[in-house]
Amino acid sequence: MSIDFVEALSTDNLDAIKAAAKTDVHAHIFLSTRRENMERWLGHPLTKPPLKMKGLEGMHEYIDEVLAPHLDHREGFEFIAASAIDDAVQDGVVLLEMSFDIRLLKFYSGGLTELRAFIEALVERYREQIDLRPELGFARECADDPRLMKLAHQAIELDIFQSIDLYSHQEACNPETVKPLYRKAREAGMKRKAHVGEFGGAEEVRRTVEVLDLDEVQHGIGAAESVDVMRWLSKNQTQLNICPTSNVMLDAVPDLASHPIRILFDNGIPVTINTDDLMIFGQSVSEEYRNLYRSGVFSAQELEDIRCASLV
Ligand SMILES: [Zn+2]
Repeated sequence: MSIDFVEALSTDNLDAIKAAAKTDVHAHIFLSTRRENMERWLGHPLTKPPLKMKGLEGMHEYIDEVLAPHLDHREGFEFIAASAIDDAVQDGVVLLEMSFDIRLLKFYSGGLTELRAFIEALVERYREQIDLRPELGFARECADDPRLMKLAHQAIELDIFQSIDLYSHQEACNPETVKPLYRKAREAGMKRKAHVGEFGGAEEVRRTVEVLDLDEVQHGIGAAESVDVMRWLSKNQTQLNICPTSNVMLDAVPDLASHPIRILFDNGIPVTINTDDLMIFGQSVSEEYRNLYRSGVFSAQELEDIRCASLV
């Protein structure tokens, strides 16, 4: 017999937590399967990430040194993509918005047509198990590469991506630089998201939401520094898609117990709980819920409310 989510959390029943329907709307596909699956596929272990990394720089160091040499090719990507969706299904994720970085095109000599065929087959293969909504991912440092910018515009025309996300080093480009891309995404009916406020900067969260007309923010935890910005996000009901373990491991927050998701929630901002990069941070959505309960950030009922709101 299945038990409800509140009871599952309060009795620390991970299987029952997994059995409840959940969403993951902040995940980057290339780093979204468990490291253990990669190790099995490769036939050898991979060095674990440090428990604390120095922000995005520290994470990229780990990726470049440990992960990239083994997976930076089409076979690696396609294994990870399918395995990531398997992981989400096993975790009880029913709706998955996963970003496909435009640079993945380097693996496809047939260009966008070939990448689209792969993504369509993936959506189709898992249709019965999960609502996979492909997201177009664009790293800020690609904004000064006219070829990649053009490809991103063309990718929107494919009519396969349901949302768009911008990420990586905030200082690499102003939101204004990608405004035409976001305007095009809006015209195509795509949901607009961007990473901002991962490492402070409440005003930058507001500015980016305004300039790019964002529907949702990836992280956005820096907003907690400003009552004014929080009030503004709450008034507009702008959702923050938060990845607690990622924030702790990249040292954006010292530990889970002091995570600002509590303050953001208390200020009436819609929040969701997500994985970011399962291969690095190692916590599924179910585990993130359990961690937030165990560390006393939320009550089981509050987590149930967050879960139910994410499914609407
Ligand atoms: Zn992210």
